[in-house]
Amino acid sequence: MTELLYMQDCYAKEFDASVVSFGKGYAVLDRSAFYPGGGGQPSDTGTLNGVGVRETRKKEGEIRHYVEGPLDGGVHGVLDWGPRYAHMRMHTAQHLLSALVLDKYGAETVGNQIHADYSRMDFALASVDDEMRGWLAHEFDKAVGEAREVRIYTTGRDDVIASVDPRRRKLFERVPPFVKEVRVVEIDGIDKCPCAGTHVANTKEIGGITITRAENKGAGKTRLVFELGQGNL
Ligand SMILES: [Zn+2]
Repeated sequence: MTELLYMQDCYAKEFDASVVSFGKGYAVLDRSAFYPGGGGQPSDTGTLNGVGVRETRKKEGEIRHYVEGPLDGGVHGVLDWGPRYAHMRMHTAQHLLSALVLDKYGAETVGNQIHADYSRMDFALASVDDEMRGWLAHEFDKAVGEAREVRIYTTGRDDVIASVDPRRRKLFERVPPFVKEVRVVEIDGIDKCPCAGTHVANTKEIGGITITRAENKGAGKTRLVFELGQGNL
């Protein structure tokens, strides 16, 4: 079982580890800071002892680092920090947008895919008009300007279900009951959400986003596409 360093420290950019096994083009390590993809966040790339890691995947209970050459023994891992940090900013931006839409319109996020250059989110909303966009822009910028802390911690699934506000209870109830300890990403005063992804530590690091598109996807779904920017949605 690989120790997942990003679960404790999203800012771990480099690490030392040992190769536990080497499969068909992939290395399994005893510990790793590479995010294996999931929850709409892409997997990390980088290097292990200078050998390129094209992709990281969780498969058959293993974290597999797909590498361009064989590896064994001790390795030094380095993440491609540019894209990973963009994913962190995007992921926290996504949580913030989801929280704003949930609280204002009671609409859940039904899909999301993050990239380093743009991201998309689908809401259970028939449409998003200019007034909603304006409101979202204002509230988003406000939360970034307020430099709200983003905390990540694990807590008992039942405890959080008992104490979280009713709108968010469903999100935690979807975590399978055999998961006793759930990882919570909390934006101070705004949101609590179960998530295994990587995030910035403060909303100010998002630096703002630009919503480039809002489109009706039918079946009561609206898609928002956004990019990282300097604020002013
Ligand atoms: Zn998340």
